[in-house]
Amino acid sequence: MFDPDIQKTLAGPASYSGIALHTGQRARITFMPAPADSGIVFRRVDLPGRPEVQAIGSNVTEVMRGTTIKNGDAVIHTVEHVIAALVSQGIDNCLIEMDRSEPPIADGSSMPFIEVIDQAGIVELGVPRRYFRVTRPHFLELKHALITLVPDDKFRISCTVKYDQSQLDVQFYQCEVTPETFRKELSRARTFCSLSELDQLMKAGLIRGGSLDNANIIDGSCIFAKDGLRYPDELVRHKMLDIVGDFALLGRPLKGHIVAVKSGHPSNVTMVQKLLQLEKEGQL
Ligand SMILES: [Zn+2]
Repeated sequence: MFDPDIQKTLAGPASYSGIALHTGQRARITFMPAPADSGIVFRRVDLPGRPEVQAIGSNVTEVMRGTTIKNGDAVIHTVEHVIAALVSQGIDNCLIEMDRSEPPIADGSSMPFIEVIDQAGIVELGVPRRYFRVTRPHFLELKHALITLVPDDKFRISCTVKYDQSQLDVQFYQCEVTPETFRKELSRARTFCSLSELDQLMKAGLIRGGSLDNANIIDGSCIFAKDGLRYPDELVRHKMLDIVGDFALLGRPLKGHIVAVKSGHPSNVTMVQKLLQLEKEGQL
């Protein structure tokens, strides 16, 4: 049994290959062990000098249809499902080697990456974790999204989605996020988009690797999902998976309760950046 308050990394390297959602390219991702206090770092092995990008809020450059981080010329798109898999399983430090700008989308959830982590194994690093804690509530309103973060001794998420297409897309779920609850309750929830958005996304040159193998599609009172829904409220659970991935961009494990209503990458990342700024100013 691992000590939850000690930093961890992988016991060895492990890889996964597949099609990337937006670029449609085949990509290979390799998770490698990393030392204490190094955090989650991506490395583009296909670029000269093998540049690295730290997974931290200040490196985020795009938030539409996924979270993109960048350092110099090195860009990594759609990082959230990969990072959620790592941090949810208690991994603080990992070097992620990539041979493309976007990781494989796999089945649109985090579970395939957790299976890779399971193959690699986890080790403790003998250094205490430094948690990201708040001492008072923080609020953010961004277009239709509302996010509140309140102090808590655990990491909890309460989330509501509502897309105004039918009763089916009004969903609420809440849980404490632990390695076990993430694996069981959130990790298998797949990404989704609405049928009306598909045309627009394709015209924008996105979702070139998208299919029902890696996403659910909602249209009015219908949800198209390969082999049926994995959870009756799969939409809201995927939004919570995204929150776990995006809030990991604080750079340290969060102790707090996130209450999110109609959240998405723009609101998640704006909140993370605001919190990082407040921490710098000693205002948390
Ligand atoms: Zn997602």
